[in-house]
Amino acid sequence: MGGVRDVQIRYKKLFINNEFVDAVSKKTFPVINPTNGQVIAEVAEADKEDVDIAVAAAKAAFARGSEWRTMDASERGKLINNLADLMLRDISDLAALETLNNGKPFEDALFDVHCAIDVLRYYAGYCDKIHGNTIPSDGEFFTLTRKEPIGVVGQIIPWNYPILMLVWKWAPALAAGCTIILKPAEQTPLTALVMAALSREAGFRKGVINVLPGYGPTAGAAICLHNDVRKIAFTGSTEIGHLILEYAAKSNLKSVGLELGGKSPLVIFDDADVDEAVEIAHNAIFANHGQNCCAGSRTFVQAGIYDEFVQKAAEKASARKVGDPFESGIQQGPQIDKPSLDKVLRMIEAGKNEGAQLEAGGSQIGEEGFFVQPTVFSNVTDDMTIAREEIFGPVQSILKFETLDEVIERANDTPYGLASGVVTKNINNALVFSQAVEAGSVWVNCYDAITPQTPFGGYKKSGFGRDLGEDALKEYLHIKTISIKVPTKN
Ligand code: NAP
Ligand code: MG
Repeated sequence: MGGVRDVQIRYKKLFINNEFVDAVSKKTFPVINPTNGQVIAEVAEADKEDVDIAVAAAKAAFARGSEWRTMDASERGKLINNLADLMLRDISDLAALETLNNGKPFEDALFDVHCAIDVLRYYAGYCDKIHGNTIPSDGEFFTLTRKEPIGVVGQIIPWNYPILMLVWKWAPALAAGCTIILKPAEQTPLTALVMAALSREAGFRKGVINVLPGYGPTAGAAICLHNDVRKIAFTGSTEIGHLILEYAAKSNLKSVGLELGGKSPLVIFDDADVDEAVEIAHNAIFANHGQNCCAGSRTFVQAGIYDEFVQKAAEKASARKVGDPFESGIQQGPQIDKPSLDKVLRMIEAGKNEGAQLEAGGSQIGEEGFFVQPTVFSNVTDDMTIAREEIFGPVQSILKFETLDEVIERANDTPYGLASGVVTKNINNALVFSQAVEAGSVWVNCYDAITPQTPFGGYKKSGFGRDLGEDALKEYLHIKTISIKVPTKN
């Protein structure tokens, strides 16, 4: 894999109106390789002035009579499919750049790009199947509804799945016919800029897609406060989710979709096959280095199999291969940055200090880059910091429970409600838990079963609105009701 390591960084500027341009201020910011902490690029830093220019371009692209607005819906689908084709053509380069910038194993990055391509193809097929109803309204009216694109949308995404999150946001917005201002996370702007170049090559018209690397409080806030932006789609922390709603309230009451943090419970009953359950729970928390909003970060295990489960979970975590993400077979690379690493280490200290039992890991690995050992705690109780706060790192917290009713109450005792899982052979346990848990997704005898067709999003402080599936399309559509007076009712 020596070749992919040498991936080139070709795009470092803002992408506005189908051109790569410097920021008005000419400012740039450094992008870091989390594997060694070195600067790999200086990227143009967008600010309010650049947001104004990009929004004007997106607004013009959306104007009545524009090429984008008047294009056949099926043609939009072809453009989205073109983008998917180009991603497949360049998949190795895309995945390599993702690994360089994010630190995830190259095989995982390849998988992410494949998933992103699937999402694009799913929505490509939707473009010419978005339509309203005819409605038997009271009175002498013939009533129909039209589904119309909402307009210019701002999309603000995190660093944990840079390409995949971008595509989760772009695909339904484009299928609906919106135009886009995307701000990637400050840590991971590089693949978003490549996606911008590919979108131009795919044939998207000027201004339909704009990508503005930069910081949240400046570029991000300017997008959210802009009066010509009609919607914000945000994935990130709950803390910033609160701010996004404030920005919407302070500006034009734009609609908002928030996909925020989680503290998702995975519940394992006595009747489960222990090895299978250990595997599911391991992947649920350690996938993507624990940097996953729907991570199964509270592993509830029923008393009868608790000790065996803990022992096997610790063995499995200790065997996890951590190292250079470009090396074949590596399962875990570095955390995204120093603040993230420090947070994970602080959480591990809190676990130890508050009386949880450290079963595996617990320390930083080496001095270079941001690596941490896969860590397992047992004897975790509901009040501990590691059971309450999002760690966003490779730390498994195993809690013991006795009964179904008890575990439902404890699973729901969190401000979050993004995802959940249950492992059992008993259909009653599975069904009762699935109905009672306050979470946007429930995975029975599996975890992270996320596909292009399945809506994904939160209850409670995990946010609202949905990514993926038909439901995500609705986020980008207005419904217009047209009632026509007819002289007689037929
Ligand atoms: P974050 O600050 O919420 O970042 C998410 C996105 O929001 C980034 O693009 C960020 O820009 C932007 N942003 C930040 N402040 C903003 C503002 N005032 N206005 C508009 N946009 C703003 O998350 P983070 O700092 O990367 O991570 C912190 C914690 O968030 C993590 O430890 C984890 O708990 C959670 N998180 C959740 C997810 C998820 O998938 N739900 C993903 C990542 C993180 P910048 O790049 O400048 O920050
Ligand atoms: Mg941030």
